[in-house]
Amino acid sequence: MAKTNDGVLKGQRALVTGSSSGIGREVVKEMAKAGASVVVNYRRGGDKANEVVQEIKDAGGEAIALQADVSKEDEVQDMFKKMIEVYGSIDILVNNAGLQRDAAFHEMTLEQWNSVISVDLGGQFLCSREAVREFLRRGMVPELSSAMGKIICMSSVHDGIPWAGHANYAASKGGVSMMMKTLAQELAPNRIRANAISPGAIKTDINKSVWGTPEGMKGLLTLIPYGRIGEVSDIAKAAVWLASDESDYVTGATLYVDGGMMLYPSFRTGG
Ligand code: NAD
Repeated sequence: MAKTNDGVLKGQRALVTGSSSGIGREVVKEMAKAGASVVVNYRRGGDKANEVVQEIKDAGGEAIALQADVSKEDEVQDMFKKMIEVYGSIDILVNNAGLQRDAAFHEMTLEQWNSVISVDLGGQFLCSREAVREFLRRGMVPELSSAMGKIICMSSVHDGIPWAGHANYAASKGGVSMMMKTLAQELAPNRIRANAISPGAIKTDINKSVWGTPEGMKGLLTLIPYGRIGEVSDIAKAAVWLASDESDYVTGATLYVDGGMMLYPSFRTGG
């Protein structure tokens, strides 16, 4: 394992939702590598989560797996309770869990709309609220961090770029952006920091149908000025920085990790 982040999160306790796969999996591993004791949250499929826990332990880190559907209030509260029983508290929350239920606008069912909003936005609210309650209960721990607590919301370039066929997803990510900023404004006096990472196209299962074929990948690359698809490590490194005291003066910010996708690439030659 590379040693770049060793120690910057030493002694801190981090929960990463939806971390048995994709971006979350790499984020939780990178946080453990940086010295945090971590919770690998999963909704279904404990085997994959246990694999991640084992990988972290094999590398000398500390991890447990906890099941919870982030859209269910009782399950979220139970997960936080168990985490606090095991680790004593929480210092870092990464709201990463998310899903897509795509449909043309006029064909989208209320069930498709609600399922995305309740996980991608509602889940971030429920987990952030529990984390903030615990930060405020526990207070500052100056030997661990200059902040009372850190929240990182996984958003998307679609918090700013409209996305035909994905109205529920774009609405949820736009909502995440304003929830994060409001949270940051409200709780900055308590030294609680909230920020977002907005990934562009990152190679995971969520978008395999696009990058999985040569034509799909070619089309995708026309949207990315930097000329390559993103890797999960691109996001994990940004998450560790936002969770660490290295970014202590950063709150309410959105870090676009997108190879320039937000730069209106079609305007390079048109417009
Ligand atoms: P992924 O499908 O591998 O990861 C999503 C994870 O969330 C999965 O482990 C899934 O089981 C979990 N999850 C879904 N619903 C859940 C629930 N109700 N409770 C708990 N966990 C739940 O995809 P990913 O690409 O790693 O996505 C991670 C995050 O990054 C998502 O919020 C996604 O919107 C965001 N994102 C991804 C990309 C990309 O290009 N991959 C781009 C922008 C934003």
